[in-house]
Amino acid sequence: MRASVLAIGDELLSGKTTNTNATWISQKLMVVGCDVVRHLVVSDDEIEIIESLNTLFNYKIDLIICTGGLGPTDDDITRKAIFNFFNSDSHFDNDYWEYLQNKFLSIGYKIPKSNKSQAIIPSNGKVFSNPTGSARGLLFEKNNITLMALPGVPSEMQLMIKETVIPWVSKKSKKQNYSINIRTTGVPESVLFEKINNNNNLDEIKIGYYPSLLGVDIRINGSNKKSIKLFEKMIISNVSEYIYTIGEESLEELVVKKMLNSNITISTAESCTGGLIGHRITQVPGSSSIYQGGVVSYSNKSKLTQLNINSNTLKKHGAVSKEVALEMAVNIRTIFDSNIGLSVTGISGPGGGSLDKPVGLVYVAYCDHNISKVEKFNFHSNRQSNKFLTSQSALYLILKNLIKNEK
Ligand code: ATP
Ligand code: MG
Repeated sequence: MRASVLAIGDELLSGKTTNTNATWISQKLMVVGCDVVRHLVVSDDEIEIIESLNTLFNYKIDLIICTGGLGPTDDDITRKAIFNFFNSDSHFDNDYWEYLQNKFLSIGYKIPKSNKSQAIIPSNGKVFSNPTGSARGLLFEKNNITLMALPGVPSEMQLMIKETVIPWVSKKSKKQNYSINIRTTGVPESVLFEKINNNNNLDEIKIGYYPSLLGVDIRINGSNKKSIKLFEKMIISNVSEYIYTIGEESLEELVVKKMLNSNITISTAESCTGGLIGHRITQVPGSSSIYQGGVVSYSNKSKLTQLNINSNTLKKHGAVSKEVALEMAVNIRTIFDSNIGLSVTGISGPGGGSLDKPVGLVYVAYCDHNISKVEKFNFHSNRQSNKFLTSQSALYLILKNLIKNEK
């Protein structure tokens, strides 16, 4: 199956909003065997929308997903443009209007008249539910192409894709599709690519490499389950040291899940990440049972007063050193009486680097009842990336040790 995403909104063209809807939709459709072959962005303008629909209806595609402009305000004209394109009359859905009125009342508002536009339904199309918002989806069919229009709000759109679009695509897809996502971290895409034997002669599978600041995802996709399994096995045997999961979970989700399962607690002493590791851990529901707390210790003074770092260690080795990192991890574990102590210290840049301690030099230390260890990294990147790369390395270090302790 082939699809196209039409994103509608002035804010997308002005650069105020990034078109994350299109990338998100592409990823989700690919997993169920639907290739997105075109992304289009147009303004909130009726003529532009109709022209782009004319263009899209001439492509060899089966599905058009449209997002944005289904709201109640004057600039939201997607509904009107689509009705005109399909020569559809408008009917007013009294039941839905009553439902919307009650919904607004339940949160203490009298519904604005402008919301009436969201109770309009087409004479020759269908509507489908929006569980978290007021603008329902629209579905039309013409010349064997289906158009589904969804609101632009990412959270509403995403739920509707999961609940309505994906089941629809899965049912329509002629071929059964299988997909595996292998998540790696700590290795550049090119190195990974070289280590994996890509000269496979496996039938009917596609391999995609998706690098981000946090690592590279390898997605194997196709209709032949056996080939996918074979390729997965080969990847695991070639690059196992970089793989943190087969699936979609993030490192922080895996870490928190493992700690919850084993009743293990952690505390953090963060210098160069400024609290990012604590933030990522506490983004995961349930983390309050495992995260004891942390100290963001940015200055040398706070390392002495808050983390009780030995002044001689600090003087002799400097704040960015394996010795200080280790003391930070050991001491934070004692201060918070946690099972694990984790620390990071490094030079984020752009200033502060020297020949022997360049920008991007980072030490990550870990300690538990059994061991204490430090890992050294040279990220050589910019400030923001260095912070993210450090947090990712720290979470991976925790995960590796949690797995080791399970054995
Ligand atoms: P609403 O009922 O909220 O008005 P709508 O369908 O009219 O829904 P828009 O007004 O177009 O949606 O956008 C709502 C919000 O979603 C805005 O904050 C907008 O920036 C964001 N948004 C719209 N389109 C996209 C997109 N393609 N990618 C990411 N965010 C988007
Ligand atoms: Mg809009």
